[in-house]
Amino acid sequence: MGDMRIPRTGRSADELLTEIGELRKGDIDWRHGRAFSLVYNADDPELDELLHTVGSMFLHENALNPFRYRTLLKMETEVIEMAVGLFGAGCGSMSSGGTESIFLAVQTARDHARARGIERPQLVCTDTAHPAFAKACHYLDVEMVRLDHGPDGRAVPERYAEAIGDRTTILVASSPCYPFGVIDPVSDIAGLALEHDLLCHVDACLGGWILPWWERLGQPVPPWDFRVPGVTSLSADIHKYGYTFKGASVLLYRARDLLQRQVFMYDSWPGGLYASSSSAGTRSGAPIAGAWSAINHLGEEGYLRLTSRVLDATTRLRSGITAIDGLRITFDPDLSLFEFGSDTVDMNAVCDVMDNRGWNLDRQQGGLHLMVSPGHDRIVDKFLGDLAAAVADHGEAFGGDHVYGGIVI
Ligand SMILES: *Cc1c(COP(=O)(O)O)cnc(C)c1O
Repeated sequence: MGDMRIPRTGRSADELLTEIGELRKGDIDWRHGRAFSLVYNADDPELDELLHTVGSMFLHENALNPFRYRTLLKMETEVIEMAVGLFGAGCGSMSSGGTESIFLAVQTARDHARARGIERPQLVCTDTAHPAFAKACHYLDVEMVRLDHGPDGRAVPERYAEAIGDRTTILVASSPCYPFGVIDPVSDIAGLALEHDLLCHVDACLGGWILPWWERLGQPVPPWDFRVPGVTSLSADIHKYGYTFKGASVLLYRARDLLQRQVFMYDSWPGGLYASSSSAGTRSGAPIAGAWSAINHLGEEGYLRLTSRVLDATTRLRSGITAIDGLRITFDPDLSLFEFGSDTVDMNAVCDVMDNRGWNLDRQQGGLHLMVSPGHDRIVDKFLGDLAAAVADHGEAFGGDHVYGGIVI
């Protein structure tokens, strides 16, 4: 920790904006396709401007009590309705992101189990499931049973069948998982849930807002949403391939009884009845308004247009990477994100060179991770050229770590 203190006198907006402008020069240049995670760049200037306008319009509105802000109430209700229609759900709610959606899915599952007399419920997932499940289980005192992925990177239904016991409450499948971009066999896993009277959550945080269009463009997509019998809840982040700014996700359910377990009501304080439908109290109105605006601005046509750009860039990147001697793509990804690695080339050293050339790839244990946004179709050739050069000519790795996320305490 440094010794930064609140300044005694405030500084002018001009001075601060100049300082921030300087600081930002060192930040990732995602607008020009230099980043492959954390930002989903729609490369659509009109959408960008709309989101800026709407974001500042709703900057100060508090969605804690939606009945005070009728516009937000309408927007939130409509976002949920549109998501319900898109995934064939029964009902749902908005949250601040994938982690909160997953927390709520784990919380409702835990309380569903406790209502059936299971005090310490178990969640069964595969090791490729997002860390938000481990975090939710840790916070919420649910036991996580973590299975190995199969030889194709996907969850193995037989392992779920073997793992199911008296305390098992919820089975998790990813559509797709983040590390490898492969879709788990949702039908088989949900089928087991149905057979054993369990819940089944599909984590489509990443894939939810792109898979429907990917499928419509004729790509092979195994069934993964509420069309699959046995799926009871599904999370899908609008702040990823929905192309709004951060803070917007949906958590959907097939049936209302689970959603109701999310609702919290409290009147044992002098401040009046307190009611909320997710774990947050005060909520910024901006993400709700942003999500509503992005979805309505793009519409199905916009999503299809952006998805075909993602598909085009993904196809070119995949074949270009495979064509580089020594490189291979890990497993056979179903969507627009994947890991690539090598048995002969030190990928950490390659990544160092790519870092120096201004690219920002994520390092995983087994290789480098790419997640493709529409704007990447502009940089494919440059990227592949730099990558081939880095593979052909690199030094010793200076030891970048496999990290995703960080801590500020
Ligand atoms: C991003 C992601 C999450 C978590 O979402 P956050 O918005 O980062 O909290 C969960 N699952 C998958 C597959 C993801 O890609």
